[in-house]
Amino acid sequence: MKFNEGNEGNNYQGTMRMHKWINTSSLSFKLWLYFTLFAILVTGILWFLEVVFLKNYYQYMKIVEVNRVAVDINQMYGRDNFLQNVDKISDGTDMHIRIETMGIPIFDPSLSDSRTPVYTYARELEILKNELAKSEDGTVSLIMPEKSSEYNLLAYAEILGSPDTGTVLYLFSPLYPVASTINILRQQLTYVTIIAIILAAVLSAYFSSRITKPISNINRTAKQLAKGNYGITFKGDHYSEIIELADTLTYTSIELEKASTLQKDLIANVSHDLRTPLTMVKSYAEMIRDLSGDNPEKRSRHLQVIIDEADRLNLLVSDMLTLSRVQSGVITLERAPFDIREATEAIIKTYDVLVEQEGYTILFDCPDKFTVNGDEVKIKQVISNLLNNAIKYCGSDRTVYISIKKTHGKIRFEVTDHGMGIPPEDLKYIWNRYYKASTNHVRTTTGTGLGLSIVKNLLSLHKADFGVESEIGKGSTFWFTLPIEKNKVK
Ligand code: ADP
Repeated sequence: MKFNEGNEGNNYQGTMRMHKWINTSSLSFKLWLYFTLFAILVTGILWFLEVVFLKNYYQYMKIVEVNRVAVDINQMYGRDNFLQNVDKISDGTDMHIRIETMGIPIFDPSLSDSRTPVYTYARELEILKNELAKSEDGTVSLIMPEKSSEYNLLAYAEILGSPDTGTVLYLFSPLYPVASTINILRQQLTYVTIIAIILAAVLSAYFSSRITKPISNINRTAKQLAKGNYGITFKGDHYSEIIELADTLTYTSIELEKASTLQKDLIANVSHDLRTPLTMVKSYAEMIRDLSGDNPEKRSRHLQVIIDEADRLNLLVSDMLTLSRVQSGVITLERAPFDIREATEAIIKTYDVLVEQEGYTILFDCPDKFTVNGDEVKIKQVISNLLNNAIKYCGSDRTVYISIKKTHGKIRFEVTDHGMGIPPEDLKYIWNRYYKASTNHVRTTTGTGLGLSIVKNLLSLHKADFGVESEIGKGSTFWFTLPIEKNKVK
């Protein structure tokens, strides 16, 4: 990936510049804003309800209270101590209660008060009586201006018991003006609003910075990652989502570090492996030019070295290509049933020259024809790599055994040699690319170090089991298994 250094720098500076002032698109600013707006909204609703609806609400409460008292007195009527109980109710309310039977008052607190010679609600009482006479259900409820003050009066009348008794309950409740109360409330609300908004702004600023701090920390660390500082650890605090994000980023950072190390190793190994044969080619070519050009025997020996090295280079490049294609996932399997015995025989055939000229023996033991399911080309490459290694590292007996057996519905393919074997400590590493077991250093020029890595990748693609059993000085057996194609076993 290519970064435009100049632009990156500019963008970064731009962001930095924004941080000096308030960044209106930042999470912390938005959190602060929403929290403060919420406080403004709540206090706004409070203002509206208190100032606009208070008057109606007060009146409504008064009506409810009058109704409640009327119901209570109605229930008490006709029972013992009726008037004493009404007196108790009268003491506990600012309502004026009057009860008359046949037009004669039987209860009215002002009757005993000698200072009020004229009945306070005489006019209202008259109106109520007139209205009650007209009423069908025996109750009247009115709001009327009181003559002695500027208040309104809530007046209520109801026939107690049956209409024959002629007993009527009158209730008068003054509706005091709420304007002064509203003024007091308004003042208090002003203080409450100011305090609430300041508190909301301060607290939300604190909380939003607390919430966004771990995100900012992660961002700071991520910038280090962007600079190629792989393998760093991200720290997430307080919130599970952020801790999870930090863990994911840490994992990414570690994976990036691995990939970067792998890339560096690969370049180092490839350049090293390519350089050796190229140096050989160059020095032998110089040798032919300067020394052996005229000596046909020496010249052809030197030319043979050049040809061998060129072959090796060819092998190395094609192995590297195969491996990188398998590992990058470009190669896909083309699975089909094929006869593994036939495939193995074809590979053994390519070693005929070696067998004839250099005295190698390849023994093949396969009792049956086995049709397996897999990608024939790739399995052939696996067999070829294993056979190649067995021949390379076989012992003085120059014999390699290949066997195919059936076990648990699968075939087990084995290549055995009686060579030097592989030290136990090297066994798990031989499948890595460019790994060469310690006992085989002398032979390094013969291999690319990629053969077993290709085997491992191709067999893994097949999801096949594979492995090696080896004993120092006795030899090694490399094996893998493949599922037998059902109904095709002959
Ligand atoms: P190379 O090209 O070096 O053979 P491989 O990936 O095929 O690379 O093998 C990796 C290493 O495993 C070899 O260098 C060798 O040390 C060891 N090895 C592989 N096959 C055998 C074998 N049959 N006997 C002994 N050692 C082996």
